[in-house]
Amino acid sequence: MIQIVGQGLAGTCVAWQCWLKGTPFQLIDQEEGGSSRIAAGLVTPVAGKRFNPSWEIESYLPRALQFYEEVGAHLGRSYWQGADIYRLPMEEEERDRLREKSHECIWVREEVETVPGVKSPFGAFVIQGGGRLKIREWLDDSRQFFKNNGCYKVGKVMGLPEASTVVLTEGALGLLTPRSEFSLQSRPAKGEILTVKIPGWNQPRFLSAKGGWLIPLGEDLYRVGANYEWSQLDEIPTERGRTQVFEILRRFTDREAEVVAHHAAVRPIVRRSIPVIGPSLQNPQIWGMNGLGSKGVIYAPDVAGILYRAIYEGGKIPPEFDWRQL
Ligand SMILES: Cc1cc2nc3c(=O)[nH]c(=O)nc-3n(C[C@H](O)[C@H](O)[C@H](O)COP(=O)(O)OP(=O)(O)OC[C@H]3O[C@@H](n4cnc5c(N)ncnc54)[C@H](O)[C@@H]3O)c2cc1C
Repeated sequence: MIQIVGQGLAGTCVAWQCWLKGTPFQLIDQEEGGSSRIAAGLVTPVAGKRFNPSWEIESYLPRALQFYEEVGAHLGRSYWQGADIYRLPMEEEERDRLREKSHECIWVREEVETVPGVKSPFGAFVIQGGGRLKIREWLDDSRQFFKNNGCYKVGKVMGLPEASTVVLTEGALGLLTPRSEFSLQSRPAKGEILTVKIPGWNQPRFLSAKGGWLIPLGEDLYRVGANYEWSQLDEIPTERGRTQVFEILRRFTDREAEVVAHHAAVRPIVRRSIPVIGPSLQNPQIWGMNGLGSKGVIYAPDVAGILYRAIYEGGKIPPEFDWRQL
């Protein structure tokens, strides 16, 4: 029996890998904190200052989407909402860089002069192939499914559990504990996120601009995020974070907005922002998966599959994911 500690994105993907292969497991979660449940679940194929595609997204994203669809079939629901993302340059220079990119990058589809209802003095570029995983629903429904099937329990694991095989998928909460084997290599980043109500805006598009994004949720609600903060690594929403995220909102619209929810969590980032997996250096029965960073939705399914095969089928861990090679 394998025990999986932590039911965020990582633990849930490992649990589904076990379920789909018929391997018995028990998933345990403290039902408190963690970043997956507040994450937007957004997939933006190109991001950053240079608008480079996310690392190897062309191979990881299609496999991730196939996995979420397969799991969705077990849960009787679809969790992926594909959408174009309208990227708004904030200045001429940024627009020129995006224009250049649009000639060489398949993800940047076209340039548009304006986006109806949105502040867009420098036009916008349509990024294709992205969207959002309804991550909270996916996690909650998976939890209920595993609960119904007797392989989920609530609890906080202290120290090291006594199962024949353990997989630690504790996210940033795990990286920040003294027993983490790669705390020296990690640089977790706190992020805050707002849900705002903007009556009458009726904005149907996913928007992104330097350092932030906005997702329409329906019924006048929008999710906006997210700032980065490296010093105070807790899950407490702050006034400063709220102001920073509100500034992101103001890149898209000056309409009156009421904050209806405000959350904070810590992104589990390890070194190069690529997930890490492997057996413990001290105890080969204990395995781990962490470091999903800011883009867990893209990589979690495949990396969980690699981890599963390494544990049960003698599969090799590619060096880029092997935490022994950090
Ligand atoms: C503000 C914000 C926005 C984000 N937006 C996006 C986004 O749009 N797209 C994207 O791909 N990613 C996004 N992310 C990143 C994403 O959240 C992570 O990549 C991913 O969800 C991490 O999953 P995880 O399972 O490793 O960790 P977590 O989600 O933190 O899960 C760990 C789980 O383990 C539990 N746990 C920890 N220790 C114990 C213990 N000892 N005993 C029992 N249970 C324990 C925790 O309670 C938690 O449920 C965002 C993150 C933040 C903070």
